[in-house]
Amino acid sequence: MDREEFLKNYRHSMAHILAKAVIALYGDSVQYAIGPQVDDGFYYDFMLPKTIGKEDFPAIENKMHEIIKKKEPWRREEVTREQALALFASQKYKTELIRDLPEDETITVYYTGDDFVDLCRGPHIDNSQELLGVAFQIKSVSGSYWRGSEKNDQLQRIYVYAYPDKAQLKAQLDRIREALERDHKKLGAEMELFMFHETAPGMPYWLPKGWAMYNALLEYWRGEHKKHAYQEISGPVLSEKQLWVTSGHWDHYQDGMFIVPIDENSTYAIKPMNCPNAINVYRSRGRSYKELPLRFSQTDVIHRREKSGELNGLFRVQEFHQDDAHIFVTEEQIESEISDIMDIAKTIYATFGLTYTAELSTRPENYMGDINLWNQAEADLKAILTKKFGEGGFEINEGDGAFYGPKIDLGMRDCLGRQWQMGTIQLDFQLPLNFNLKYVAEDGTLKQPVMIHRAIFGSMERFIGILTEHFKGHFPFWLAPVQIGIVPIRPEHNEYARSVAERLDKLRVRYEADYTDQNMKNKIKHCKLDRVPYVLVLGDKEAAEGTVSVNIRGVKENAMDVPLEAFLAAVEAQMENHSLELAQTF
Ligand SMILES: [Zn+2]
Ligand SMILES: [Zn+2]
Repeated sequence: MDREEFLKNYRHSMAHILAKAVIALYGDSVQYAIGPQVDDGFYYDFMLPKTIGKEDFPAIENKMHEIIKKKEPWRREEVTREQALALFASQKYKTELIRDLPEDETITVYYTGDDFVDLCRGPHIDNSQELLGVAFQIKSVSGSYWRGSEKNDQLQRIYVYAYPDKAQLKAQLDRIREALERDHKKLGAEMELFMFHETAPGMPYWLPKGWAMYNALLEYWRGEHKKHAYQEISGPVLSEKQLWVTSGHWDHYQDGMFIVPIDENSTYAIKPMNCPNAINVYRSRGRSYKELPLRFSQTDVIHRREKSGELNGLFRVQEFHQDDAHIFVTEEQIESEISDIMDIAKTIYATFGLTYTAELSTRPENYMGDINLWNQAEADLKAILTKKFGEGGFEINEGDGAFYGPKIDLGMRDCLGRQWQMGTIQLDFQLPLNFNLKYVAEDGTLKQPVMIHRAIFGSMERFIGILTEHFKGHFPFWLAPVQIGIVPIRPEHNEYARSVAERLDKLRVRYEADYTDQNMKNKIKHCKLDRVPYVLVLGDKEAAEGTVSVNIRGVKENAMDVPLEAFLAAVEAQMENHSLELAQTF
């Protein structure tokens, strides 16, 4: 048995043990529904006579150990439909499952000992003793609906981690703890970066420190795009329905849009995407081949409706800013333009120390447009990805592209092994057609441009969420919400501290100075909570000599007697180079 099969087999077998334990504890009125294995263990859905809480976990775990230690044999039996229905006559959900089985299906049941039977396809272990070494721990209990529908009974889902041994379970628990410590919602509150209010679910409020960081990120992004001849535009948040009808959003994306009725004659919608804005700018005057590629970047606020249960901090929101751009190219320019976008992505991701992977999604069955154009475009994209990632160095999702064009998705895996979707590069043969976009070609004829939608961060909000977790709040100097803390030791050092602050103002550094007569240790502690890269401690010696004593984030010993000019030069260099690492010598 290979590892995958082994994991599946014993995890699912453990689900039977859980059901047996729960019935033993809570009686025969327990209704057991389904119990599949999942990536880190298994769960089982129950209708129970009481609501289970954390305090019940030890009893359930102990009962499971007890059952496993009985080393009971497992017995597989094939039964007829009638036998199965009789066997599970008091089990509402099992009965429903049996009734739904196709006529010709062989029905199998598994006995664990003589007193517990479950309807199941198997395969399973032969004896409970095979589970003796399995390390498990109840993860959670939560509400779930029978067959996932809110119209059905609400059940209790007991979720259990299960691993082949204690070391592997511990590693998983460590990963979970680390993920909790890195949770951007927790850090965002601690560092006062953003918040939400119940009157605007999924629509972030940016607090002063968070907004300062947001703008630093955007400023960096703008600088990189300027080097590649992007021109930034901005368009209305609200547009009349007609625009969305033409773009196709009204028919295909209406559920995702906030609609704003004005009066009986007009309805507006809040934009879920920037594309039609860029198109209107494109066609605001005649365009010539000489202008192409024409690159319009745009970071306006957009809104997309989400179910309230799916909202999750900055990761899943209803209001956000894409780091968007729309590029209009000739068919011949597709390859070089995609290559240019990939270069920008490479530079930007490297700035954050992120390694990333690419996936290409190709022509689906319901594609529109010219098949030759599709073939050429896909060949171009493959050639670029092969050049950048090597043969077989990227994934291809055959037939997964949008009907209007192939796309490349860029994702990264973080230090905890979690996969994040970030950038996307989408070719579009459809919108230029819907809006009748043209340019005057070199031969004087009117031709249709190809449109490219692309984002590198994905969304500013989501990317900040990812960065917060990736860096655990320890942002690089240039990006840190508060870059420097200024701590005069006593009020008589405030004057010198103010002169240092003035110099930082000139460099446009984000600092916080504490001129109160509070204890120096408390002042420093406050800076630590903000994960401030440098805290300058200023006393008699520093004021007299024009130096600073630098408390460097993550370093025990302060750097002493650093000439102010040397420190400022190091600060300036890090801002200029968007350095990932903190300078530690000055
Ligand atoms: Zn089973
Ligand atoms: Zn777009």
